[in-house]
Amino acid sequence: MNSATHITAPRRLLSRVRDVMAGEGTAQSRLDKITGIIAADLVTEVCSIYVRRAGDVLELFATHGLSSDAVHYTRLRVGEGLIGDIAAHANPLSLSDAKSHPSFAFRPETAEEDYHAFLGVPILRAGRVIGVIAVQNKTERKYTEEETETLQTIAMVLAELVVGGELIGRHELMPADGIALKPLRLEGTVYSGGLGIGKAVLHEPSFDIDNLVAEDPDEEMERLHEAFSSMLGHLDKLLSQSPLNAVDGGEHEDVLEAFRLVAEDAGWLRRTEEAVKSGLTAEAAVLKVKNEMRARLGAATDSYLRERIHDLDDLSNRLMLHLMGKAGADGAHLPEHMILVARNMGPAELLDYDHTRLRGLVLEEGSATSHVAIVARAMDIPVMGQVRDVLTKIDHGEAIIVDSDNAQVLIRPGEDVQQAFHETRKDQEKIKAQYAQLKDLPAKTLDGIDISLNINAGLLFDFEQIDETGADGVGLYRTEVPFMVRAQFPDVEAQRQLYEKVLDRADGKPVVFRTVDVGGDKVLPYWDELDEENPAMGWRAIRICLDRPAILRQQLRALILAARGRDIRVMFPMVAEVDEFIEAKKLLQRELDRVKERGGIAPENVHAGVMLEVPALALQMDKLIPLVDFISIGSNDLMQFLYATDRGNPHVSDRYDILSPFALGFLKSIRDRCDQAGVPVSICGEAAGRPLDAMALIGIGFRRLSMSPPAIGPVKEMVRTMSERQVAQFVHSTLSKPYVTIRPRLRDFAKDHGIKV
Ligand code: PEP
Ligand code: MG
Repeated sequence: MNSATHITAPRRLLSRVRDVMAGEGTAQSRLDKITGIIAADLVTEVCSIYVRRAGDVLELFATHGLSSDAVHYTRLRVGEGLIGDIAAHANPLSLSDAKSHPSFAFRPETAEEDYHAFLGVPILRAGRVIGVIAVQNKTERKYTEEETETLQTIAMVLAELVVGGELIGRHELMPADGIALKPLRLEGTVYSGGLGIGKAVLHEPSFDIDNLVAEDPDEEMERLHEAFSSMLGHLDKLLSQSPLNAVDGGEHEDVLEAFRLVAEDAGWLRRTEEAVKSGLTAEAAVLKVKNEMRARLGAATDSYLRERIHDLDDLSNRLMLHLMGKAGADGAHLPEHMILVARNMGPAELLDYDHTRLRGLVLEEGSATSHVAIVARAMDIPVMGQVRDVLTKIDHGEAIIVDSDNAQVLIRPGEDVQQAFHETRKDQEKIKAQYAQLKDLPAKTLDGIDISLNINAGLLFDFEQIDETGADGVGLYRTEVPFMVRAQFPDVEAQRQLYEKVLDRADGKPVVFRTVDVGGDKVLPYWDELDEENPAMGWRAIRICLDRPAILRQQLRALILAARGRDIRVMFPMVAEVDEFIEAKKLLQRELDRVKERGGIAPENVHAGVMLEVPALALQMDKLIPLVDFISIGSNDLMQFLYATDRGNPHVSDRYDILSPFALGFLKSIRDRCDQAGVPVSICGEAAGRPLDAMALIGIGFRRLSMSPPAIGPVKEMVRTMSERQVAQFVHSTLSKPYVTIRPRLRDFAKDHGIKV
């Protein structure tokens, strides 16, 4: 095939299909005609169009070649037969002998027994499969890639006919249980806590494209390129003006940088160019590629790839606005207090909205580690994800409440409910203001015991919280978090810069760097996920680092270089055997020697500690104690392994309580052992940030706690209202009792003694 026919053939077919679509007759008669045109053009004996109907069935709507009796009679479930297979995976399927395919489902009414070759593609609309178009031949021929492309282009145009409302009611194309105009309560997953009240703004740009088929492809190509470069320019401007620049010079930049890399990904532009070459207008080409990538990536098992869908959606929408000359429209018409509702979005899209009006974000999809969630957390707005079909249940401007604290979204809440939430919000603000006032007061018990309160940090903006909360330092810096938001593994220099910023921001207050705790649920996008049956107990943290020492050595080197004479505190996670700690310390020593040999400035003091989160290590304290400079108990993992209960599984995660005499006794034995040896010990799991739990931990002797920043205020208030002696006495009196938990007793005790928990 020479290149001229290669380019003109699909265009010719496309303009014929367009003419029929724009012509006379019912939608059904136009569909019938189109099947004939396609079959003739692609030289196939059959062309059939299936439309997805309510109940997830695909109904044969038109055919050229199969028995006409089958039209509106043959129905396949999504997933059933070859047609159902295409719909289920949103992928084209090309077979030279369809009947030998395991999914082939023969329907006698179609009389298709004589056909061998089969090519089918999904008809996509907004990332959803709304139908399938298939061609068949009697011979065992192989369809070319161009033919697949052509059929996909036709499918894109046909989508307009399907959603036009004439063939089937629009409601059938919506996911089940559509809008009912009554208040609704939806559940989802919390990506960022808090409470937001406002009016819904649906972030689902719908583009009315008048013209799908190009009159002049060269002109369309030019338009595409112009829009592309204008989009890149706009993006740069947007990123440089981001409201986060003021508070964060680190990870969110990486996030946005990764986003920019997607924008510049040649593959994306090339595919769009190809679609223009095949005869689509620039707008239609952008939409086609968006739909296809979305469907393809949506089926990917790799979470990193799936996450990139949103970046691509964001970019496609953005490019579309530039094509249509609507970019940069201001948001003055948006409500004063807005809750953004989206299927999903990229980080730059979120930044497009006026952040002073944003009160919350609700996503149908997303994940806690998606770029938009990370940026939203940095902006301190509540975010709920995985809220199913929310876009079909709410309209622009309707009242909505994002109650992330209770993992719920309330749609069209009644006046009284809104009022109640406004009160809650006001109360929360008042309480926040009260906690802020405690910031400079000491965390000292009524009987004069000082408690050191520290924060757990992950992203750079968390370090702002040292000052805002008046914390004593950072008891746990989860260094894997910045690794997780990047597009690739940060090299020594990138890490050095980051750690330097961290130490600068801490301004002399101690920061405990926990070396990378990846693996398990903490997946790095650029690492192949291991398919492990029990990832939490699998190849993670120190186990990876000792097997691949370069990772740990680079991290330690970066840290030493960043310190430049200052103190450093390093802690190794998931150590189960003392020997693992010894090995890790050897690597640390090698890196210290290396820096010195090269004339670098060594840290003033190096404190090497261990994270105690595997029970086996707690039973080797005699060997461990002489080797460590400090111990930090990771009670999240320690409890999960001690009780063999998955901390992430809501069915069991609350089954055993850290406030049981056994667990407290166990923690106390570790604490006592450290105390005898003069080794500083702290607790940095979630329990340390819950006032009642923290009270009990202080009661068994802990003096150093590390918690998420918002917990500092409530815990400090508790500390300042408790008497260490009284609490210790009470907790000790329960340790020999056969209770599963002493939580209710502790709560009563706190109440009776005026302790604010
Ligand atoms: C812990 O296990 O208690 C801990 C603080 O570490 P992470 O939650 O990061 O596993
Ligand atoms: Mg842990």
